[in-house]
Formats: sequence, C-alpha cells, structure tokens
Amino acid sequence: MNISRKTFFKGLALGTLSLPFVLKTMKPGQAQQDNSPLLKSSKQYKWKMVTTWPPNFPVLGEACTLFAEMVNKMSGGRMHIRVYGGGELVPALETFDTVRNGGAEMGNGAAYYWAGKIPAAQFFATVPFGMNAQQVNTWITSGGGQELWEECYHHFNLVPMMAGNTGVQMGGWFNREINTIEDLKGLKMRIPGLAGKVLEKAGGSPVLLAGGEIYTGLERGVLDATEWLGPFHDYNMGFHEIAKYYYSPGWHEPGTVLELIINKEKFESLPEDLQAIIRAAAAYFNAWVLNRMEAANAEYLAIMIEKGIDIRKFPVEVLDTLRIYTKEVIEEMTTTNEFARKVYASYSEFRKKAVAWAGYSEKVFYDNLQVI
Ligand code: CA
Repeated sequence: MNISRKTFFKGLALGTLSLPFVLKTMKPGQAQQDNSPLLKSSKQYKWKMVTTWPPNFPVLGEACTLFAEMVNKMSGGRMHIRVYGGGELVPALETFDTVRNGGAEMGNGAAYYWAGKIPAAQFFATVPFGMNAQQVNTWITSGGGQELWEECYHHFNLVPMMAGNTGVQMGGWFNREINTIEDLKGLKMRIPGLAGKVLEKAGGSPVLLAGGEIYTGLERGVLDATEWLGPFHDYNMGFHEIAKYYYSPGWHEPGTVLELIINKEKFESLPEDLQAIIRAAAAYFNAWVLNRMEAANAEYLAIMIEKGIDIRKFPVEVLDTLRIYTKEVIEEMTTTNEFARKVYASYSEFRKKAVAWAGYSEKVFYDNLQVI
C-alpha cells in the first residue's frame, strides 16, 4: 500500500484497510422491532465525539469512526455518535475541556495532553521507561489503575476508558546524530508529557504540538526534531523528507494508552445497556488499535529499510542518562503532588512485579528470538 503524505493525512477512506467486520450504520429513528430485554427504551441519543486526531486519521481517528458505527449497530440504532477530528469542532487540545463542560459528550485522545492541568494524568497515558502495552493494560484493568483513573477524572466530571494503545513507539526524527547526551542540548523537539521534562533536563526544549501541526513545524524550523508514532504513521507523514535520522527506541512512550473520555453526567444519564455497550466497544477498540499498529508498523519498517532510510538506535549511555533524568522528573512531580504520588505508587509497585514476571517470560523469549 503506497499512500502519499497528503492522502494519508486526510485519512484513509474506510474500506481501504481490511476490517474485521462490516458495519451497516442504522440511521437514528430507524427503530428495530426487536423485543430483546436489553432494549430498555427506544429513546434516541445523538452525541458528539471530539478528538485530538486529524480528521479520520489512519488507525487512531479511524478507530473513533468505527467505534461510533459499532455503538450504533450494537444499540440497534438508538445511539448515533458524530465524530469530529481535531480542529473541526474545537482545536485538538481543547478536547478535554470541551467534554467536561458538555460541549461534546465524548472525546478521544491521550491523557498526557492534559498534563498541564493534571500532572497525574500522564501515568494513564505512558511513562518514559515504563510499562509496555501489555503491562499497562494489565495494570489498568487488573491492578487498580482504572479505579485511580476514575478517581482522578471524577473531579473533572469525566469518565475515562482505555480505547487503544500505540504499542512501543519510535524515538523520533533528528537532523543531527545523537551520539552523546550533549547532542540533545538546544534541541527544540515535539515530545509530549513527562518526556518533555526529561528533554529539558538534557538541555532541550520540548514543544507540544498536535499531530496535524508537526510537519509544518519541522519545515518552518519551529522544531528541530520530533517524535510521533511508529514506522507506519511516521513514514506516511513524510518526516523522512525533512529529517535525516530515525532513532529507536521510543524510550519515552513504551505503550501509550489512548483514552475515551465521556462527560460523567451524560454517561450516567444513559440506560445501563447503552453504558455497557460503550464500555464493550471501547474494550474492543483498545485491542483493535494495538493490533492495527503492530501489523502496520512491521510492514512499514520493512518498507523504510528497503528505501534506505537511516534508522539508528540511541547509544546505551544516552538511554542510561535519560533514565536517570526520568527518575528525577517523576520524583519532583510526586513530591509536590499528592495524587500523583498515590497513582505512581500503584504504577511502580505493579511494574516491579510485571517486570520480574517478564524476566521469566517475555524477556527470555525475546533474548532467544530467532526467525525460523
Ligand atoms: Ca508519540
């Protein structure tokens, strides 16, 4: 599949990717004759979902559209959700405030975008050198993470749910070689969340830009470097046209959780079956996004290698220093913020056990991984 940057950016037309199901959208008002006991009421709900993604953005925005279709289908047409890309109804990074204030009933993004308001929210997105997708999914569903997340967002009139995961990301695009930690000095880099503070410690300047603004930011020199996602998105966004080196690993985003946020009052006003449908669809897309990302990244890594793109790994000493800075950043944050301390205590305790287990499971497997 060869897609131009422009086409990619506008979003793939649905149907260009093989979907696991074909959903026939029912129009609101197209009442079913079903007597299922689940159908408590025939009341129609017309909701809006605002997102931080460019409109119909491949995988991430696409998942929102498919989510809306799935909820429509599962609800027998009672719930119609209109999805807006970032900037269509409100700017991308106003998603959080728009949903909590009721300007839209739902939103989709990642919790580290709200770090300026809620430092602890970042733990529900990703932590540099932290847990991967499998581990963070486990912490949130089975290790107390969901309860803490709900406690955190309750104060903002929101209900959070996981609705996707990027998997391990790439370290980003640079126009200079990164051989020592000194090479990060003075670098203006698009990098979100805790990792931005880590970059600051290394003498760089983090810039938070939504996905749709990165390419022009690099082109105009607002940015010297950027990270975004993995081979699939990065290649199709054309970053290799304006940056020389593509570095691994995404030390800063080992498995970023994408969130569905719902206005709490609106969610609680729904019949129980619609609430359950939303939760089930979110859980479905939590897995769907990760599966799509992993498949597409593997495919596009091969394409990038074939095209001769200069893909490198950060030197171990650079990663070691970034890890020390990460520890300092987290300590500073948790010292001054009681709730962040509580969330991180849960996160780090869970991670210790998860990493110990991985030492006897995943790690042993990867250490001996050979393609046969
Ligand atoms: Ca990223």
